[in-house]
Amino acid sequence: MKFLLSALMATALMIGSMTSVRAEIYQQGIVYVNYEREGDAAVIATDVDNNGVPDVVEDIATQINAARAVFHDEFGFPDPLGSARYKNVKTIEVDVCAKKDMNNQNGLAFSGVRKKSKHNPNESALHISIASTADPHKNSTPTHEYFHLIQYGATYFRNGWYLEGMARWSQDAVQEIKKYPTDRNLSWTLKDKASEAKIFAGKYGVAKLLWYPLSVDLNDKQKISSKLIKKYRYVDGAAVFKDNVFYGPNVMKRVLASMKSVEDEAANEFGGRKKWIKDGVRNAQNNKYILKCVRDIYNERRS
Ligand SMILES: [Zn+2]
Repeated sequence: MKFLLSALMATALMIGSMTSVRAEIYQQGIVYVNYEREGDAAVIATDVDNNGVPDVVEDIATQINAARAVFHDEFGFPDPLGSARYKNVKTIEVDVCAKKDMNNQNGLAFSGVRKKSKHNPNESALHISIASTADPHKNSTPTHEYFHLIQYGATYFRNGWYLEGMARWSQDAVQEIKKYPTDRNLSWTLKDKASEAKIFAGKYGVAKLLWYPLSVDLNDKQKISSKLIKKYRYVDGAAVFKDNVFYGPNVMKRVLASMKSVEDEAANEFGGRKKWIKDGVRNAQNNKYILKCVRDIYNERRS
């Protein structure tokens, strides 16, 4: 990315217990990518713009900055940087890791703050990990993991059907979805005990069961501006945003805000806020509060 490019060719940082692998740091805006050229977590070396930074490293940072632009600048989601929870945190670090060191996942997003960031031990950072095998051209993993940071900044709830289902939904920001999943009986789904149980037991699949159908049924069809689509391109020139259709951002923003407003009720049921934040944010007792937020928004918009 030329417009934001400022590569920090750094620094003999040693990661973890590995002693011989040199990590380097690439900066694009507030995003810092920590990567290695050798060893288990080595990134693909292709560097078509010959700027000394592997393209995949630039492309990861570009996708995250594109996600920030679409979620915050275009659709007004609260920025986790500067949220009450993360008020003194100003940067995001991405560690490119070997997939085998990440429970075989493509990405991980951490809710805790990295107190001494790798790019500056005097500064804290939010952080995510991306597998060295993930290709931002094909995988929307950077967007998915970045959306988790938005979720963490917006509410402490961590139930998997919400957390992973909605993060899967968020991938639509950069992906093209040819046919959006719908549910002709969504009002029934939101009442029926068996459907409810299926939602609560789900994770990524809840995007299809609930979050996309909700977006479509409430007619929240939005367009990503051509300005952003032109601006965010990978090193090889390919657009980050595969199309301009994005279903549901206003609905999801409202769901997150509404969830925040019921945190105290869930915490009280669990025995107090401190205890809830420590041990209760994934508890099944939370499910009814989160689903009630969804139902209320659905019923209000439909009436
Ligand atoms: Zn996830």
